[in-house]
Amino acid sequence: MGVGRCMRGYLVRLALTWEAKACLLLSATVVLLLCVLQRDQTHLQLLHVSDVPRELPQVSTEGAGVEASMRESTSEDSVTRRVLPGCPSTPPHLRGKLEVEENVSVSEAEARHGLGVRPGGFSWPLHCVARWSVAIIVPYRDRQYQVGTFLNHMHSFLQRQQLNYSIYLIEQEGTDLFNRARLLNVGFLESRKEGPWDCYAFHDVDMLPENDYHLYHCSAQPRHLAVATSNTKYRTYNFKYYTYYGGACLMTEAHVRKVNGWSNIYWGWGGEDDDMWRRIAFADMSVWRYPSHYARYKTLQHKPQPVNNNRYQILERNTGRYHTDGLNSINYTVKAFTRHPLYTHILADIGSSWNNSLTHLSTSEMHRESSQ
Ligand code: UDP
Ligand code: MN
Repeated sequence: MGVGRCMRGYLVRLALTWEAKACLLLSATVVLLLCVLQRDQTHLQLLHVSDVPRELPQVSTEGAGVEASMRESTSEDSVTRRVLPGCPSTPPHLRGKLEVEENVSVSEAEARHGLGVRPGGFSWPLHCVARWSVAIIVPYRDRQYQVGTFLNHMHSFLQRQQLNYSIYLIEQEGTDLFNRARLLNVGFLESRKEGPWDCYAFHDVDMLPENDYHLYHCSAQPRHLAVATSNTKYRTYNFKYYTYYGGACLMTEAHVRKVNGWSNIYWGWGGEDDDMWRRIAFADMSVWRYPSHYARYKTLQHKPQPVNNNRYQILERNTGRYHTDGLNSINYTVKAFTRHPLYTHILADIGSSWNNSLTHLSTSEMHRESSQ
C-alpha cells in the first residue's frame, strides 16, 4: 500500500468522522427542538386523558348561572337559544405562558371586559356549548387593591378556556379574625343556588394562574391548583408539598358534599387547607395535581394576617370530625347580595370566633379538653 493511498484513506475517514459528528449534533439539536415544541401539546393532551369522561350536550341550554344572569340583563342582552356544537376538548385560543398585569383597577377591568361578561360576572362561550360550568369562589375582606387585577386576569383566562363560569366574591362582615373556610362554605352554598355548577374553584384573590393550558375543568378527584407559586420561587419540594391544598383548588359538588365542605373552626391564618386535605383522605379520595410547569401562579403581595396558633391542635383532632363540622353545621346570614359588572358580591355575617371554643384555648387547655 503506497503512502499516498494510505494518507488519502486516513483523510477520508477523518472527514467522515467530522461529517458524522456534525450530522449527529445537528440531528440531536433538531430532536431536542422538536421535543420542546411538542412538550406543551403533549402535556395538554395528557391533561385531557386524566379528565372525567364527558358527554357533550348538542343543544345549548347556556348552563348554570345563566338564568340568574339573564333575569338581571336588559332585553337586548337576552340570549336566543340556538343549536350549537360542543366546544372542542382543547380550547383553540390558548396562549400558554401568560404575563400577569398588576395594579389594574376594578374600573379598568370593567372597561376591558364589560362587553364579554354579564352582570354578576357570568360568562360563557357564544359559539359553542361549554364543556364545563365552574363557580369561582373567592374569600375576601379588605383587599380592594387586588380585586381589579384578579378580575382582569381571570376573565380573560377563563374565557379563553371556553368555560361557562361566574365569579363570586364572598366578603366576611366585621373585624373578627378572618375565617377563609367559612367563607368558602358560604360561597359554595350560595353559588349552588344559582347552579348547579359542574365544579367549584375555591380561589384566593391573590393567586393568578400563569399558564392557560392549566384548564379549570373538573377532575375525577379533587384537584389542587396552586402547585407552584412565585412567592416560594415556584419550588414544589417544600416539606408540606404533598399535603398542601392551599391557594386555589377545584372540586365537583360530589367531592364537596362527600367531605361536608370546609371546617368552620379555623379563625386566623392557616390550617383550614390542611384540614381539607385530610377530609379528602378520610373520605377515600385523593388530591390530583397537574405538572407545575402549568399549575404555576403569580402571587400578589400583601400584609400577613394574624396567624392561628392553635391550628395544629385543631388539625390533629379532626379525625372523623368532618361529619359534624362543615356544610351541615355552618350558620351565616347574607347581609348583602350585589351584582357588579364583573362579579357577584356576597357580604356575609359568619358568626364570631368567640363562640368557637377551640379558637381561643391555650395549648394547655386544649390538651386538657382533648383528654376529657
Ligand atoms: N383574604 C382576604 N382578606 C384578608 C385575609 C385573607 O381577602 O384579610 C383572602 C384572600 O382571598 C387571600 C386569601 O384569603 O388571598 C388567603 O389569605 P392570605 O393571602 O392572607 O394567605 P396566604 O396564602 O398569603 O398566606
Ligand atoms: Mn396571600
